[in-house]
Amino acid sequence: MAKKYLIWNEEMETMPREELGKVQLKRFRETLERVYNKVPLYKKLFDEAGVKPSDLKSLEDVAKFPFTVKQDLRDNYPFGPFAEPLEDVTQIHATSGTTGKMTVSGYTDHDMKVWAEVMARVYAAGGTKKGDIIHNAYGYGLFTGGLGFHLGAHEVGATIVPVSAGLTKRQVTIMQDFGCTVLVCTPSYALVLAEAIEEAGLDAKKDLKLRIGFMGAEPWTDKMRMEIEKRLGLEAFDIFGLAEIIGPGVSVECPAHNGMHIAEDHFYPEIIDPATGEPLPYGTPGELVFSTLTKEAFPLVRYRTRDLCVLHVEKCACGRTMVRMGKITGRTDDMLIIRGVNVFPSQIEDVLLSFAELSPHYIIYVDRPKDMDLLTVEVEATEKLFDEGWDAVKGMEGKVKKALAEALYVSSKVNIKEPFGIQRSQGKAVRVVDRREL
Ligand code: ADP
Ligand code: ZN
Repeated sequence: MAKKYLIWNEEMETMPREELGKVQLKRFRETLERVYNKVPLYKKLFDEAGVKPSDLKSLEDVAKFPFTVKQDLRDNYPFGPFAEPLEDVTQIHATSGTTGKMTVSGYTDHDMKVWAEVMARVYAAGGTKKGDIIHNAYGYGLFTGGLGFHLGAHEVGATIVPVSAGLTKRQVTIMQDFGCTVLVCTPSYALVLAEAIEEAGLDAKKDLKLRIGFMGAEPWTDKMRMEIEKRLGLEAFDIFGLAEIIGPGVSVECPAHNGMHIAEDHFYPEIIDPATGEPLPYGTPGELVFSTLTKEAFPLVRYRTRDLCVLHVEKCACGRTMVRMGKITGRTDDMLIIRGVNVFPSQIEDVLLSFAELSPHYIIYVDRPKDMDLLTVEVEATEKLFDEGWDAVKGMEGKVKKALAEALYVSSKVNIKEPFGIQRSQGKAVRVVDRREL
């Protein structure tokens, strides 16, 4: 790999897997002891499953331990799952609550250092260093995005501009006037910024200095990445995380762009069959499960993320030995069942983005008129298509409908809207509106 990319922690990130396994086993044991002795939730779960921390003799024994799920955290809301007294918990965050009541995360000073370290690995993976000016458009507040990216910026010695979300026009001015070189925000907001830049009559490649982007917090496809790269004139990297595990920084895409390396010395990943809970081998898609290995305040054992993806362990061109996770293809709870067929929003996005006549803004509605599921996809026309007139738009609707039917095996209704006809998001985009229960 070219020198412009960096590996922040060579020792850990390129550690031979056998050695890494030893580190993980030791840390996993410590975590089991910690939760069993300090968190009543785990004492109960382990006792019910008839396991003790000492039963972990090798990493193969991990599967003997019970899962934890979001409901366990909700049942013990807000601080029940913490393993340290509140006075040692120096920072508190919460999930964005995309799928229900928020869950709360706590950090000790040590946990904050771990978070800064894994976020430094993220920044370095794309080549961010001292001298870079980071435009942070993730929301600051309870959401982990803003502060996670903030912490890592200090760790790598770059300059952080804590813009937070919103006031898009002003964001463009800041980017231009401050000469920001790194943009961090959700992929959907990156597109909103691209539009605002174009609307201001600017050419990102000539008028801005952006060269790197870290986008995450919501699912996006590789096609979306290329669109963002083209319009913003930067190299974009996918970054993954969840508040329960630490926030952003659980994994990041490397310059080889073939998956996101998990910081496995801190977060132990597994893939399971979401229906049976059985562990699945590398290379098989399933539900992602994480155990934290070093966290003090809020350790988690076998936490079911409900995110679907695949793990790869083969050697990566970048030199990192840590497992790579493929793109999140959906959440177990955002998989839509349309007339009995499983449909993921990412499949729809893939189809929509293959049409140059459409812009990458869409929303999916599901209704059930007269006991039949109805899938409606609303997407925007480009200015060019819209200017061609009604017939061209209608003709395109037919083409998209056909392409969707071929990809999804279910029929759908397609509405192509005028440019800017779909509402923009400033943080995580809401792309699916399931109105069946309403
Ligand atoms: P919430 O569950 O309320 O959205 P978080 O803000 O912690 O809480 O969001 C974590 C979730 O966001 C992940 O479990 C995953 O579903 C999604 N996510 C985060 N990063 C990515 C990414 N890079 N690609 C796809 N999905 C992501
Ligand atoms: Zn790599």
